[in-house]
Amino acid sequence: MPIRPLPDVLVNQIAAGEVIERPASVVKELVENALDAGAQRIEVDIEEGGARLIRVRDDGGGIPAAELPIALQRHATSKIAALDDLESVMTMGFRGEALPSIASVSRFAITSRCAADEHASALAVDGGRMGEVEPAQHPPGTTIEVRELFYNVPARRRFLRAERTEFGHIDDLLRTLSLAHGERRFVLRHNGKPVRDYRAAASEEARLKRLQEALGEGFSSQCLAVAHEGAGLRLHGWLGLPTASRSQADQQFFFVNGRPVRDRVVAHAVKQAYADVLFHGRHPAYVLFLELDPRRVDVNVHPAKSEVRFRDGRLVHDFLFRSLHEALAGTRAGHAAPAPQ
Ligand code: ADP
Ligand code: MG
Repeated sequence: MPIRPLPDVLVNQIAAGEVIERPASVVKELVENALDAGAQRIEVDIEEGGARLIRVRDDGGGIPAAELPIALQRHATSKIAALDDLESVMTMGFRGEALPSIASVSRFAITSRCAADEHASALAVDGGRMGEVEPAQHPPGTTIEVRELFYNVPARRRFLRAERTEFGHIDDLLRTLSLAHGERRFVLRHNGKPVRDYRAAASEEARLKRLQEALGEGFSSQCLAVAHEGAGLRLHGWLGLPTASRSQADQQFFFVNGRPVRDRVVAHAVKQAYADVLFHGRHPAYVLFLELDPRRVDVNVHPAKSEVRFRDGRLVHDFLFRSLHEALAGTRAGHAAPAPQ
């Protein structure tokens, strides 16, 4: 075959292969966009585990009508404009790939309104083929509907698991994001039935209640608040006491600048810190937030952005280990150390 550039839709479908693995990946991208748009309330409606419908509605800043088709273009983003911006990016997104990728493998519709505008606008995209921008009704904010995910990619469609399994992934994802954004409200429905309602939590008490909602009383009644600072790093969150340890590593949440992250440096430091207080084969439960200058961490390692690379991994490791070790020291005697303020 002669060398030819691939058509846009095909390029988007290939990109979708990297980022959009299953319905939960769509929910992740859409909810992250809502968070980036400053939404205070995010509603997620799912039908048939997401295979039939994924709808995310937010009350964020919205998209001006003229920019709707641009938002659907590949590598179009409002979040960075130069390489320098990438160094200090604090938004969840920045690659400008999610919307065109999702729209290329589904029947996609976006309706949006900026607070200052009188009307909303809507745009539908079917398997990557874009329609016209049309006037619509919508309160300030954005709703995105993704129907029949992978309808035009049979290999992927076949790969979808049972409805319950796919919904379970979505539920897990929303739990994780709700932990990182305690001040916003998240509502999740499946097949028209309410499943979760994580209410905005301003007070410490309300935050604990939400923690209980997300992780159960086993965790919230047996955890220790931590807060440490040093070397430009700030760690805060909750550490499960040894009595809250688990037979599986299924309640481990670590966020770097608000982004859920899996990282070997972090995992190792936490494991070491718990080594003295946990029996072999038990896994600690924790919800921890690390805050640092975004220039000290590279989030552009993988398209899904669930990996990061610390510029000074050793320092981060030692800070984490020392902070956690100290916090846990008092628990060895079987009682909790006082929570630092
Ligand atoms: P990225 O998030 O990496 O910028 P996306 O493809 O996810 O790329 O979105 C493209 C652009 O569309 C975003 O930069 C943003 O300007 C706009 N956008 C997407 N979703 C929303 C939303 N829910 N509210 C407001 N703007 C949005
Ligand atoms: Mg995005």
